[in-house]
Amino acid sequence: MKLVILDRDGVINEDRDDYIKSPDEWVPVPGSLAAIARLHHEGWRVVIASNQSGFGRGLFDMNTLNAIHLKMQKSLATAGGRLDAIFFCPHAPEDHCNCRKPKPGLFQDIANRYGLDDLRDVPAVGDSLRDLQAAQPLGCGLHLVRTGKGERTLAAETLPTGTHVHDDLAAFTDWLLSQPAKPQATA
Ligand SMILES: [Mg+2]
Ligand SMILES: [Zn+2]
Repeated sequence: MKLVILDRDGVINEDRDDYIKSPDEWVPVPGSLAAIARLHHEGWRVVIASNQSGFGRGLFDMNTLNAIHLKMQKSLATAGGRLDAIFFCPHAPEDHCNCRKPKPGLFQDIANRYGLDDLRDVPAVGDSLRDLQAAQPLGCGLHLVRTGKGERTLAAETLPTGTHVHDDLAAFTDWLLSQPAKPQATA
């Protein structure tokens, strides 16, 4: 199975420091929808792993989050893309859950969903250090994009060894689709 795991804010859509609180505030990063469509057409299952602490902080409710995701799915469908699943952490930091990145809970949930023991060589794409830190224990390939908080992350953080850096999701997709087919973890 070809599986790729994407952060949402700053990777697929433009990030905002005050959270994406409405469908109107969800604006795709240029080229990101076409990139997901290419992955989909090449047989990749695309899964989102996203912290949504704005929900945990009471900035928006579940209906609004569903409406935001509906806009994302419809925009993607128009571009010829598709998401296999959306995993998100609904908690605030003070909840001390195990799914808010940098904790690995979302990635463990994804592995469980697909019947995998780990996520060895599954590419994970994010714009923040915590995206990489959450994916690393499961054995994911680590990819930082410069969109969203990516430039800030590059300037301020020491990235895990072996992290690949790409301009954006489109550039990551170019890279991934140019790689020789590699056997991935199987159920
Ligand atoms: Mg992000
Ligand atoms: Zn959580």
